[in-house]
Amino acid sequence: QPARIPLERHGIRREQLSPAARKVCMTLQEQGYTAFVVGGAVRDLLIGQPPKDFDVATSATPEQVRAAFRRSRIIGRRFKIVHVMSGPETIEVSTFRASQDAESAETDEHGRVLRDNVFGNQEEDATRRDFTVNALYYDPGTETIIDYHHGVADIEQRTLRMIGDPRTRYREDPVRMLRAVRLAAKLGLTIDPAARHPIREMGVLLENVPAARLFDEMLKLLFSGHAVKCLQQLREEGLHHGLLPLLDVILEQPMGERFVWLSLQNTDERVRQDKSVSPGFLFATLLWHEVLAAWERRKVAGEAGQPALFEAMDEVLDAQAGKLAITRRIAGDIKDIWALQPRFDKRSGKTPYRLIEQPRYRAGWDFLRLRAQAGEIPMEIVDWWNDFAHAGHDEREALLRQAP
Ligand code: ATP
Ligand code: MG
Repeated sequence: QPARIPLERHGIRREQLSPAARKVCMTLQEQGYTAFVVGGAVRDLLIGQPPKDFDVATSATPEQVRAAFRRSRIIGRRFKIVHVMSGPETIEVSTFRASQDAESAETDEHGRVLRDNVFGNQEEDATRRDFTVNALYYDPGTETIIDYHHGVADIEQRTLRMIGDPRTRYREDPVRMLRAVRLAAKLGLTIDPAARHPIREMGVLLENVPAARLFDEMLKLLFSGHAVKCLQQLREEGLHHGLLPLLDVILEQPMGERFVWLSLQNTDERVRQDKSVSPGFLFATLLWHEVLAAWERRKVAGEAGQPALFEAMDEVLDAQAGKLAITRRIAGDIKDIWALQPRFDKRSGKTPYRLIEQPRYRAGWDFLRLRAQAGEIPMEIVDWWNDFAHAGHDEREALLRQAP
């Protein structure tokens, strides 16, 4: 029997949910289904962080959910779920599912479960989730939390505990190792030793995860607002190998290291202040020193500067492509930022005028500033461009005369 934890004990009022989350649960309940807010949102509210989004779990099938809401659609990625639109919000509604053990499920040769789309009851739905703190169900009707795996106690003890045997659960889905590190960093939880210890030896299983899924998870990690902490922890667990194939190399170069951490700190601050962040920019910084090294190698081999840079950019991105499905659009952004860098060296004639009109100028300049902060180039260049970009015509001419 699950624990039913009353309002007096947990303190979460229905008003703390978004209007859409409340409405979706209540509508489904009125139609005779069970429906709860589940997962990350309940966990975050208990910890005292604002939830990013609200997910609902229900006994209704996707078709029944679809029928209950005019503005909704069924989407089928790994499994069928329903997006219900309400006002400006989208609520993800999923039907209770059962986990399949490795014997009955379809798996790859390493035991990774390929499909888990078997409907189940609420208890089974709780058990197929990854961590106890992620398996809490909040009923807005009664303001109770239904807790099958002592998740509330684990939150009180600040522990991230796996449901079931950690090794088995990592084998079923290696991405859970990354989730453990990310959630622990984000929520200030300690990974339970039983879940932490196997990570070091099982990390290699991440190599079999499809690149697109790994990329999604890396984005979540890098834009969690706790990227520095996450990557330090990844490094401690020996997990940075094989994620960005070159990340470990980068983190060991003295120059690259400074640059990468500055960039990650900068990203963390922006995320926490709710400012926009761009994957292209961040990946450009993470891989920059690889580009510099490849570019240098080609120049030493006698290739001309500009073409060599473009070859080096492709070389570095290709090396990432196999493991990390950087989308075309993001790859385009990355290259734009890199390609602008040598152009900041030319501070004479008409070129500076053309450069500041480039659509990606601002991102390129932000990147330049980061390079200066890391000690790669003098800050004077960065200031010069800032002055130039904001000056009137006569001042610009004066700046051009001053430039070395
Ligand atoms: P975030 O704050 O990043 O949204 P989250 O825990 O809500 O964290 P989601 O990816 O939104 O993460 O997943 C929603 C819920 O689905 C989780 O709380 C967990 O219960 C379950 N879940 C997600 N990924 C897995 C997984 N790989 N294995 C088992 N359960 C998972
Ligand atoms: Mg979530």
